[in-house]
Amino acid sequence: MNVYDSDRMTDVLAPLGYAPTDQVDDADMVILNTCHIREKASEKVFSELGRLRQLQQRAADQQGRRLTIAVAGCVAQAEGEEITRRAPWVDIVVGPQTYHRLPELVGKVDPASRQRAIDTDFPEEVKFDFLPGEHAPRGPAAFLSVQEGCDKFCAFCVVPYTRGAEFSRPVDTVLAEARRLVATGTREVTLLGQNVNAYHGETNGGNIWGLGRLIRELADIDGLDRIRYTTSHPLDMDDDLIAAHGDVPQLMPYLHLPIQSGSNHILREMNRRHDRDVYLALIDRLRAVRPDIAMSGDFIVGFPGESDRDFADTLSLVNAVGYASAYSFKYSPRPGTPAATTDQQVPEVVKSERLESLRQLLNAQQLAFNKTTEGLVVDVLVERAGGRAGQMAGRSPYMQAINFDGTADQIGKILSCRLSAARQNSMRGEIIDLKGAA
Ligand code: SAH
Ligand code: SF4
Repeated sequence: MNVYDSDRMTDVLAPLGYAPTDQVDDADMVILNTCHIREKASEKVFSELGRLRQLQQRAADQQGRRLTIAVAGCVAQAEGEEITRRAPWVDIVVGPQTYHRLPELVGKVDPASRQRAIDTDFPEEVKFDFLPGEHAPRGPAAFLSVQEGCDKFCAFCVVPYTRGAEFSRPVDTVLAEARRLVATGTREVTLLGQNVNAYHGETNGGNIWGLGRLIRELADIDGLDRIRYTTSHPLDMDDDLIAAHGDVPQLMPYLHLPIQSGSNHILREMNRRHDRDVYLALIDRLRAVRPDIAMSGDFIVGFPGESDRDFADTLSLVNAVGYASAYSFKYSPRPGTPAATTDQQVPEVVKSERLESLRQLLNAQQLAFNKTTEGLVVDVLVERAGGRAGQMAGRSPYMQAINFDGTADQIGKILSCRLSAARQNSMRGEIIDLKGAA
């Protein structure tokens, strides 16, 4: 979502003459778009701001110009005051729901009078209504935000505080953005939301659509060949969305469905509001309609009160599911969340050990999944040049990174590809059908 937001900040600043650059030394403005989800991500902001201060100083000393420094995103939202205290050289602090006001904020900044601009409101207006419709091409595979915020309040999570209450974009604005993306060369969209499957967008006619219905409508857009969505909460996987996995061919057979823990006791403490059986039953239903669906998830180890037995339950759940890929994290106490203040914190060394054994299991599952796809012929959407000369890279329907020998003119094409060698995080492939390539 931060990648998507960064693109929208670029859009909103374009009329002022700003364009993105890879050369930070030449930049007139640097925006750090930040993440607050774990402490590590948050702390990085302050070390990065230290580096930017030197850059700002150099620009002033050597070129007599002012480099504007902005902090956006959830760290800005949660720690705006702390940022201006610890890093007074920051000019703009802007939260995730107000970045449409960036042009105004840029106008307010005046380093001569030490005038900063800070905006961490949760505004009445919806930022999407104020973002430019036109945008630069976002490539063959693009993000499309449909839902934001969260009302679930899991005991470990800052999202409800930093992104605010759950909100769904109206159906027609989503469809219009998807059509514009397709017109500029996008063939795959990943629908985004902190709780994307809680989507309940209003149509022009005043009806409310769930995510399954939205996906069916998007699938009707000519030239939109692939649809994905992330991140989902198990409780919001409704019948229509599950059915869509069986009957919408554009919906890719890959689902990121976090559970966080395999222990019913910990799930309760986390306020996840479902148990492991509900989750396993959901996966059975998904596999019944789409037998090859590749599952992904998120896990937190060392949540307060997690015992060895609780952790063993997580391992057994992972074994029961068989993930194609998954993310795992050590529990990180976050300011303002209920779990942060309990006295049952798990020692760091225990967290590290558990993370290590969970990662070993998940890595083994990922490699095993990749091996089961060796020899398959799948469609690959070519997205970019690969790591080595003469190589191109794209994704399989199962979200695997595929590297193959190819040429730059293949970018944006969907090619038939035989998957050859499995690696831990990617597959080698060979293009087998150039004739039929669209
Ligand atoms: N809405 C999604 C998750 C969004 S946050 C869901 O409900 O699953 C992305 C991931 O970050 C979470 O799935 C969780 O695994 C991890 N995460 C969130 N807060 C965390 C914390 N305090 N410590 C460690 N990991 C955390
Ligand atoms: Fe955070 Fe996801 Fe829980 Fe919402 S549902 S509080 S975003 S982990």
